[in-house]
Amino acid sequence: MSNTRGYKDKPTGRGGEDCCSFCGAKRSDVPILFQGMDGANICSNCVERAYGMLAESKAAAGRRGKHPELKMAELLKPQQIKEFLDQYVIGQDDAKRYMSVAVYNHYKRLLSKDSARSAGKDGGDGRADDVEIDKSNIVLVGPTGTGKTLMARTIARLLKVPFTIVDATVLTEAGYVGEDVESILTRLLQVADYDVAAAERGIVFIDEIDKIARKSDNPSITRDVSGEGVQQALLKILEGTVVNVPPQGGRKHPDQKFIQVNTKDILFICGGAFDGIEKKIAQRLNTRAIGYGVQGTSSIDRSNLMKYIMPQDLKSYGLIPELVGRLPVLTHMQPLTKQALRSILTEPRNAIVKQYERLFAMDGVELHFDDEVLDYIVDKADEYKLGARGLRSICEAVMIDAMYDVPSSGEARFDVTLPYAKNKIEGANFLEMKRVG
Ligand code: ADP
Repeated sequence: MSNTRGYKDKPTGRGGEDCCSFCGAKRSDVPILFQGMDGANICSNCVERAYGMLAESKAAAGRRGKHPELKMAELLKPQQIKEFLDQYVIGQDDAKRYMSVAVYNHYKRLLSKDSARSAGKDGGDGRADDVEIDKSNIVLVGPTGTGKTLMARTIARLLKVPFTIVDATVLTEAGYVGEDVESILTRLLQVADYDVAAAERGIVFIDEIDKIARKSDNPSITRDVSGEGVQQALLKILEGTVVNVPPQGGRKHPDQKFIQVNTKDILFICGGAFDGIEKKIAQRLNTRAIGYGVQGTSSIDRSNLMKYIMPQDLKSYGLIPELVGRLPVLTHMQPLTKQALRSILTEPRNAIVKQYERLFAMDGVELHFDDEVLDYIVDKADEYKLGARGLRSICEAVMIDAMYDVPSSGEARFDVTLPYAKNKIEGANFLEMKRVG
């Protein structure tokens, strides 16, 4: 029986150890060795290499293929997009309007290029009847836990173009530990199933953009590898350039062939908390107020300075001017009021309370929260400044024992009352722990 054909016996290397039927690597030299039929093996390195080849061939096919056609009549209008967002995201009307318009205009821009191209009026430079529609990348500023990512995820559900969310915190300047900026496009290519033409019309949400702000105004002796350098690299991508994208991302696969992606038509939406930016806004407002012919500062709503945010505040925060210039649409998220937190518990389509009700219903148990329990949960989230993100963890602390006991109890109904909820929260010292943390 042979080891090289048919693999009737397991292929073995020196010392009788199992080895990969493709590259011959021994089991002890590879992370995983998969066993197949008739004793054939394949190691995880070969699987990854094969995946890369598949991605490259798909990409080659994608470049030749045609992306799904957009039709003006089928596009959701901004108001319809906002109505859809309303089902999942509470409040944040301004940001929703900006996002809805941005997405709609992105479609229109692509459509206008398509029609210009098919009429042979342009060389693909965005002109139709001499009117060029510019790309309007967006920056969404707002405290953490106010729904920036939720908004991006929700909008992704109805998009007709590839969409991905990436985290700016992992990006570093090329050559340093972390991910190169090009990896953003790897993700987009992956969601587009390596259809390059489709990816080139996609939308990328870059979360935590504030984390790549310059750390200080003073040039430092040590290199700012995760700040300004990344901004410079990002700038090129936002401006529109042809980027060599590693189809599998990272630097783990040095032999992968790059795929060229043109970012000219990719829409970028950036989100960030910009902690402390209110100080910069206040400084600007105060400076402006000194001098003649300017409005006094008395009419300024000091409790919500975010609504006065301007592009120059992003610069003062540490974004380079060129990058700010490439993000012409600036909008902000409101801090969530108690009323908004209360609505978040019950109103969105997949509201937290609805999720618990579903979990209990699957055991045939009707779950009911008293109104004052919901108010109590909101009060605690607000008191401990946990925001919407805290609602979930407080609910978990209230519900954990019930979720453990009720499925075996045979009860048909479970009522969460205020004394019950208080007992669980205070008894578990949950909030004390949060306070210490
Ligand atoms: P951000 O990206 O602004 O830090 P997220 O979108 O990740 O915040 O929000 C965290 C969680 O809080 C979400 O998963 C969601 O459950 C809830 N949440 C936050 N803001 C809202 C909102 N405006 N409407 C509904 N749920 C929200």
